[in-house]
Amino acid sequence: MQLLDGKLAAQAIKEDLKKKTSALQEQGKRSPHLAAILVGTDGASETYVASKVKTCAEIGFESTLKRFPSTISEEELLREIEELNNNADVDGILVQLPVPKHISDDKVINAIDPSKDVDGFHPVSVGNMVSGTPTFIPATPYGILLLLEHFKVETKGKHAVVIGRSHIVGTPMSILLSRKAYPGNCTVTICHSATTNLKEICLQGDIIVAALGQAEFLTADMVKEGAVIVDVGITRVADASKKSGFALKGDVKFDEVAPKSSAITPVPGGVGPMTIAGLLMNTYNAYMKKQ
Ligand code: NDP
Repeated sequence: MQLLDGKLAAQAIKEDLKKKTSALQEQGKRSPHLAAILVGTDGASETYVASKVKTCAEIGFESTLKRFPSTISEEELLREIEELNNNADVDGILVQLPVPKHISDDKVINAIDPSKDVDGFHPVSVGNMVSGTPTFIPATPYGILLLLEHFKVETKGKHAVVIGRSHIVGTPMSILLSRKAYPGNCTVTICHSATTNLKEICLQGDIIVAALGQAEFLTADMVKEGAVIVDVGITRVADASKKSGFALKGDVKFDEVAPKSSAITPVPGGVGPMTIAGLLMNTYNAYMKKQ
């Protein structure tokens, strides 16, 4: 069994981007610049944004974190996005989702200039991805592709089973794994809460991407011998032995599935760090497009 260590693969990508950034600085150019917007004080969102900003600093990217109270109006938030759209020194914009209920996710996503849409959620980016035009791919599926590439996982002709059909993970993942390129060229089955024979389908999977958000859902009896397992899930489960009071659990029951698999991602330290790597790659690509 091979551990698909996301920390290791992300480190290689970060080192490469760091070298490229110092080369830009040596040429007297500015660094790629990511602007993040955080609305409210949700614990998980705070952690994700902090980690994105910290990683930018590590590799020499510039970053701006704009924080707003959860009482900010939709109109005001859209104005802030517009300001970042018009700022020529900002290459990538992300709004950490979810935003409070009185603000429309769709309006926020649509307000971002597609040339700065490093989360890849804008309909223009989604359309380009579906039609196979180079574009910003959502960070998590992009990170998973980079991970498969890093560990040279064979994907051609494999049956990939994706559990979950969200716009940010499952759906783009299923499209990307089915495209005629590496990593891809898979036969893909996408499953969701209305799938009736999930276990049967999973047992046919050469590659399983679990992105449903239910702690330790995928058990050994659902996995065939030698499958490649990508665990996207992150669920906070109460754990009194931890200082934080919770432990992070994936969608896969790691201890029993790992011995059956040929390769598997851990949680934490698998898809999480690769998601950040995907975001940084998108930001670098946004910058380079302007050069
Ligand atoms: P969503 O809740 O948006 O989507 C979950 C999907 O799983 C839905 O399509 C749902 O089906 C499906 N689903 C739920 N329960 C079942 C079930 N019992 N059987 C089959 N399908 C089911 O979640 P996200 O896609 O946003 O995220 C999924 C997980 O990945 C979460 O734990 C999230 O925290 C994590 N995540 C991790 C990231 C990382 O960097 N590692 C990044 C993004 C997310 P239906 O459509 O029918 O409701």
